[in-house]
Amino acid sequence: MSGLSVEDVRYAYGAKTALDGVSFRVPPGRFCALLGPNGAGKSTLFALLTGLLRPQAGRIAVAGQDMGRSPREALARMGVVFQTQTLDPDLTVAQNLRYFAALQGVPHGIAGLRAESALDRLRMAERAGEKVRALNGGHRRRTEIARALLHDPDVLLLDEPTVGLDAAARAAITDHVHALAAEGLTVLWATHLADEVRPDDALVILHRGRVLRDGRAGDVTGGAPLADTFLALTEPEPA
Ligand code: ADP
Repeated sequence: MSGLSVEDVRYAYGAKTALDGVSFRVPPGRFCALLGPNGAGKSTLFALLTGLLRPQAGRIAVAGQDMGRSPREALARMGVVFQTQTLDPDLTVAQNLRYFAALQGVPHGIAGLRAESALDRLRMAERAGEKVRALNGGHRRRTEIARALLHDPDVLLLDEPTVGLDAAARAAITDHVHALAAEGLTVLWATHLADEVRPDDALVILHRGRVLRDGRAGDVTGGAPLADTFLALTEPEPA
């Protein structure tokens, strides 16, 4: 199927198991929150999804392309926003996008149009000429999301994209990415913050390398606040 599929994926760093048979699917055009406390295995899963690490068992498919058999095709269907910021602060927003488009092999003739359209989708068009150094954290993140859309991916992965942002910027980014999913993009949004998840989102709760819950967020909580459900599921046992 298209969208994103993770099937019985395992990964251990030596004796330390980080992912212990993780399976879930995100249908096309769905916003899926991958919610887990620190150490749950979210970053390891992202490293596997983006081909930085290889699963020791299981399989991953992106927009129907198998990461093991056709990594190039799978990666071409995927846009990624990593936790660490990777924009050049001395270039403008538009220059950063053009530079990345060239790296991605987006043909020069369409790179400009793609950049304009991506900035438009993130409501960043009027800042195209500003240097990244002059932007606030929220606008930098939006630039990075726009950059991840330049090659027209089907699936967008974001690893804790709101870390370090204030409440208003956090809400704006969460809104923008929900809008992208409503337009048809498949989204996997990793977070440890329950308040970023909406009742209609798909939700996967990951804890100690295992999926504890998988379903529509409102159904997983049965109407209770997600923060309470999440804490009850993942609270360390008293010593
Ligand atoms: P999260 O991103 O949800 O915080 P991680 O994927 O970073 O989780 O970590 C999952 C588990 O794997 C944790 O127990 C962590 O300590 C362990 N881990 C992560 N990276 C390494 C590594 N390079 N070597 C050994 N253990 C690691």
